[in-house]
Amino acid sequence: MRKIFHAYILLGPEEETAKRAIELAKAANCSETPLCGRCECCRRMEAGSHPDLFHVFPDGASIKVEKIREVVMGSHQPPVEAKRKVYVFHEADKMTLDAQNALLKTLEDPPTSLLFLLLARNIKALLPTVISRCQVLDYTKTDEARDIPGDVREILLKLILSGLDYSKINFYVQKLAEAEVESDALMEFMASAYRDMLVIKTKSKAGLKNWDLSDQLKKRAQDLSPRALVKAIEILYSQIEAVKAKGNQVLAWYNLLLGLKEQEVI
Ligand SMILES: [Zn+2]
Repeated sequence: MRKIFHAYILLGPEEETAKRAIELAKAANCSETPLCGRCECCRRMEAGSHPDLFHVFPDGASIKVEKIREVVMGSHQPPVEAKRKVYVFHEADKMTLDAQNALLKTLEDPPTSLLFLLLARNIKALLPTVISRCQVLDYTKTDEARDIPGDVREILLKLILSGLDYSKINFYVQKLAEAEVESDALMEFMASAYRDMLVIKTKSKAGLKNWDLSDQLKKRAQDLSPRALVKAIEILYSQIEAVKAKGNQVLAWYNLLLGLKEQEVI
C-alpha cells in the first residue's frame, strides 16, 4: 500500500493544488493502487459530491478561528463511508494565527481516518509548527506529467518500471512519436521519474516530483544503481535537446530507448 500521510501542504497556484488535492483524496480512498478514477468513490470525490469530502474556504480575507474550531470538531467524527475523511483548506495561508493554532492539536494527534490538505501559495504565512506537522508538496514548478494522456503515460511507466521488450520497440517508438504531447515533454516526465529514483536511492531529502508513484518508483529503484540513473538522466536530456532542435522525433525515440536499454534502466 502506498503510504499517505495525515496532513499535507500543497504549495502552488490554487488551480493546480486544488486538482492535486482531489487526486490525493481519491488515492487515500480508492481501493485500487494506483487509484482507478472510475469507481464510485473516485467519481464522487472528483464530482465533489462525496459525503466525506469537505472544502474550507476563507470568509473574506481570512479563515477565522471559529471556522477552524468547527472543522476540528467535525473532523473527529468518523467518516460516513470513506476510509479517510478529507478536508481541503483552500487558501490555507489565509488562516489567522489563532486559526492555525486551533488546528495544531489535531495535526499533532490526528485520527487515523483523517486527511487534511492545506492549499497555499505562500508558505511563509504558515506557522513553522503547522508546517512541521505536514508533508509539503511543491507544485510551484511546472509538472512534467501534467498534460500526458493516460495511455501514453502507461507506456512510459511500463518502460520505466518493467523494462523494454525489444520485440516491441517499433510499436513504442511509433506510439510515443505520434502522441499528442510533444516528445520533449514526455521525455521530461521520464527524466523526472529517474530523478525521483535517484532521490530515493541517495536518500536525499529533496521531495519526489511524482509523489503518486512513490511506491512503484521505490520498488524499481532497488534494481538500479545511482550511476545508471545519472546516466539515464543524461541520455534523456541529450535527446530532449535533439527534439527541441527540431530533430527527427522517431529517431530521437529510438536513440533514447536503445540508450536507456543499454544502461539497463528500461
Ligand atoms: Zn477508485
